[in-house]
Amino acid sequence: MAHYSIAIVGAGPAGYFTAQALQNAQNEDRIFSIDLFERLPTMWGLVRSGVAPDHPKIKTVAKVFEKVAAEPNFRLFGNIEIGRDIDIEDLTSRYDAVVMCTGSSIGKKLGIPGEDFPGSISAAEFVPWYNGHPDYARLDIDLSGTTAVVIGAGNVAMDCARMLALNPSELDPTDTPEYALSKFHSSNIRKVYIAGRRGVEHAAFTAPELRDLPKLEHTDIHIDADQVSAAHARVEAIGEIEKHTVSNLEAWRLIAEHPKSGHERAMEFRFLSTPKEIKGNGKVEEVVFGINKIENGKVIDTGESYSIPCSLVISAIGYQAAPINGVYFHNGIIENEAGRVLGTNIYTVGWAKRGPSGVIGTNKSDASDVVNLILEDLKEPKATMDIQMLIPESHQVIDQGSWSKINAAEISAGEPAGKPRIKEVSWTKLLSLGLN
Ligand code: NAP
Repeated sequence: MAHYSIAIVGAGPAGYFTAQALQNAQNEDRIFSIDLFERLPTMWGLVRSGVAPDHPKIKTVAKVFEKVAAEPNFRLFGNIEIGRDIDIEDLTSRYDAVVMCTGSSIGKKLGIPGEDFPGSISAAEFVPWYNGHPDYARLDIDLSGTTAVVIGAGNVAMDCARMLALNPSELDPTDTPEYALSKFHSSNIRKVYIAGRRGVEHAAFTAPELRDLPKLEHTDIHIDADQVSAAHARVEAIGEIEKHTVSNLEAWRLIAEHPKSGHERAMEFRFLSTPKEIKGNGKVEEVVFGINKIENGKVIDTGESYSIPCSLVISAIGYQAAPINGVYFHNGIIENEAGRVLGTNIYTVGWAKRGPSGVIGTNKSDASDVVNLILEDLKEPKATMDIQMLIPESHQVIDQGSWSKINAAEISAGEPAGKPRIKEVSWTKLLSLGLN
């Protein structure tokens, strides 16, 4: 019986699904001890700090993560940053394999003039802000103007736009942190534009998210019906249509046909619009878009432009991984081949491996593929010295017991208000909840 020790870095979906795949790979010949390291004192990665608060069903996957964590071969080391508190070499020398599940947390830049004006932010800041991430809770998001523009045609852009455009009373029963909830309640934003640079048919939104839009009770959704028909015609002219494009176009048709109620709050989709410049007098005042057209399936700049006056711009155009000391990154991801970091016992799963794509469940198959590679590569187990020896006694580790205390305290704080939880957003207070 071989007993292997595996370190996983990052307690998000990729990390927990990797632990689960390792647990499932145990048999009479091999067992695993799994240590999961997390920089934050809170767990579940994007399930806690990415998924929009008005989508609570998606968060129920956390139950799976807690089941994985309850197994006797699992240890949690929260409030430990690899590359700062513990070097990557300390992991690679002690563990049989190290799996980096550290995600992508830096928003890609538009690279246009005015992008750094106050009032222009990245979804990589706005999303963790409205989700109570301790590093972003103190951001001052200005919602005093009436119009916001969200750039990008993916599900993150959709989440940002919806959070700005829905009636904040819809957030009252959710786990939106108190500071963000009160900001949304006093927000003056009434019109939110979402701009995609290509055609309706090219948008990266997924059909379930589109189909949910007309269900918003207090917000009208606008899309030019002619643009939807034109996209339909273009797609039909090509011939073979991908299944997701068919469902998306059907969802767009329903959105276009859905009766508008004259709500004060509205979301409007603009396609074939490339952001060229953000203009203003020391702060965001308008976004200038170049107008595109599609010819022979190609997106072409017409040379014409239009602008949308606004006070807030959120760019949601993708993410790249944040650097970690001792790990080599290339093009925004950890340099890897199918999850193997060649020449090392390091592996990677999730957005750190493949870039910011797929839904939470995608990480499950990704994790199991990479665990199969680890199984192929494993040799004699290392005689390891417990990593605990490297952590000073003065450093508070959030182990599974401490995390359970934080989790339980948040859930019980939410009960009187009928909320799933009230998130604690101060790092110091989270650490003290972990002690109680
Ligand atoms: P995404 O799906 O890749 O969408 C990025 C969007 O940004 C695309 O429309 C892209 O347009 C656009 N873009 C990129 N560079 C641009 C530029 N310079 N100027 C203008 N537009 C630009 O990424 P995401 O929205 O960040 O989402 C990441 C992943 O998380 C996706 O797989 C998504 O489905 C998933 N997610 C899922 C949910 C959910 O299931 N509810 C919620 C949130 C996120 P082009 O196509 O033209 O490049």
